[in-house]
Order: sequence, then C-alpha cells, then structure tokens
Amino acid sequence: MNTKIFKKKILIDLDGVLNEYGKEPFDENFIPKIKDGAVDFIKEVSQIGELYLFTTRNLLLSSKWLLENNLDKYFKDVTNVKIPSFLYIDDRCICFRGKYDQTLEEIKNFKVYWT
Ligand SMILES: [Mg+2]
Repeated sequence: MNTKIFKKKILIDLDGVLNEYGKEPFDENFIPKIKDGAVDFIKEVSQIGELYLFTTRNLLLSSKWLLENNLDKYFKDVTNVKIPSFLYIDDRCICFRGKYDQTLEEIKNFKVYWT
C-alpha cells in the first residue's frame, strides 16, 4: 500500500519575502539578511505544503543562503521555473480574482510593501 502523503506545492519568492530586500541597493552577488519571523513562517508553511524557493537569482547562491540560514531542510528545491503549484507567495504579484477592471486598478496602484 502506498502511504506516501502528497503535499501541495507552494513556491515562495526569496527577495522581499524571506530577506530584507529593498533596504540596500540590489547586488546580484549578495543576498540580504533573513527577515525577522521568516524562520517561524517557513516552519509553519512547511507543515501545509511542499516548499520550493522560487527566485530569479543564481540558484547556487540562493541554495547557499538557505543553508547558511538553516532553512534548507524545509525546501524541496530551489527553482527559477514556475512549476505547477497550489500557491505562489511573492511580494511583486497581484492575485487575479476574475475581474479585469479590478486587476487594472490594482496594477495602477501597486506598490511594494517596503516603499
Ligand atoms: Mg520578491
């Protein structure tokens, strides 16, 4: 009998979601420090879904950052591919709720949270 439990995939963005992105000028060779509360957040979310770190950054650099922050055990993989998933968690997205007019307004008024 196959008793393997399949968790829903959840892709989590790195910059601005798990780190202090936006406080310093962007440096592609340096990933900012982890945000307060990120470890507890990741622990909780990993109980709900199978986590993938989703980033446009260098994948080796991003994997190293996970290791340095002891978060690697909570992630199945690091990817820059939008794999089919239950949820995408990102600081630069708008949730489309079926209404284009509403979405256009949200695009026009969009601001990242740290500004
Ligand atoms: Mg981001």
